[in-house]
Amino acid sequence: MSGSPAVVMRLVASAHTVAEKAGAIVRKVLHSGDLGIVEKTGANDLQTLADRLAQQSICASLSRRFPKITIIGEEELPAEEVREDLIESGHSEEILQKTCPAEYRELKEEELVVWVDPLDGTKEYTEASRCLRHQTDAQIPHHKGSDTYRPHSTALWLLDNVTVLIGIAYAGKAIAGVINQPFYNYQLGAGSALGRTMWGMPGLGAFGFQLQEVPGDKRIVTTTRSHSNKVVTDCVDAMEPHEVIRVGGAGNKIIQLVEGRASAYVFASPGCKKWDTCAPEAILHAVGGKLTDMHGNAYRYHANVKHMNSAGVLATLRNHEYYASRVPQSVLQALKSD
Ligand code: AMP
Ligand code: MG
Ligand code: MG
Repeated sequence: MSGSPAVVMRLVASAHTVAEKAGAIVRKVLHSGDLGIVEKTGANDLQTLADRLAQQSICASLSRRFPKITIIGEEELPAEEVREDLIESGHSEEILQKTCPAEYRELKEEELVVWVDPLDGTKEYTEASRCLRHQTDAQIPHHKGSDTYRPHSTALWLLDNVTVLIGIAYAGKAIAGVINQPFYNYQLGAGSALGRTMWGMPGLGAFGFQLQEVPGDKRIVTTTRSHSNKVVTDCVDAMEPHEVIRVGGAGNKIIQLVEGRASAYVFASPGCKKWDTCAPEAILHAVGGKLTDMHGNAYRYHANVKHMNSAGVLATLRNHEYYASRVPQSVLQALKSD
């Protein structure tokens, strides 16, 4: 490769390290026990100190390095100076070494839109925290002053639902995505690394995980556990699934797809937003998968689009057409494409 790395590769390389920093913030706030929960539109739409600090960290770090990009974050925060200790200026050297797909080589900073979900799965994050608070400190092994604590409890599986999402769009398309899963490996004992970062770019590939498909032709549907209603469950049933997995987070559900634990993510409801789907869609697309609304239409990620994914989310690694063909007429009528 000649010359300096393409802008988009520099941005992905920074986003990778910035997402790791955000993941560390998410762990630290959980460990502090003081989540500072605020209800946004209601009890199932929450914001915590971790959402606020992680977003400040991500947005301030990326805009300092890339002042001309458009960044759209989930949380509405007062415009204030971001604490210097929240700024991350590092980048992944490994990503900089990759060859940028030819079609993205000349992209300019001002053409890129970054969609940020600083903490996806906030509901599950708060539930896991409540569970932690019911344990005595002695049951929660941790090293004071570091973020290497290890929770042990059954309800703590919810920690795996939590992700940090940074998606990059160009011309309305999700062209790169970074997902940090801050509590990955929480079950393992001290000494093993906590958290992981996955990333991908259509045309280049996806990294940080082992791609797997659900064995055989088994239809395993993953859907929401905290934002369900009759239309949502009717649509899941219409897929004639062999199994249904209800977990939190859009990022987490895409991880289920690419690691062979689910064959389709079916959410026939508004509620998911562009910051929930941009990064996951890019990674899914990089491994040959697809994310659309319930009609099979693609979402667009221009800076001025409506934030809500009003016509639901249908995502698959393979056989998208099968799942799209099973969506009931009643669902299609209830959820209009943009
Ligand atoms: P879930 O699968 O329920 O975890 O939802 C995936 C993402 O969409 C999360 O970021 C949720 O916060 C968001 N979401 C889905 N439905 C709703 C809703 N009814 N109200 C607010 N956020 C929602
Ligand atoms: Mg989210
Ligand atoms: Mg969020």
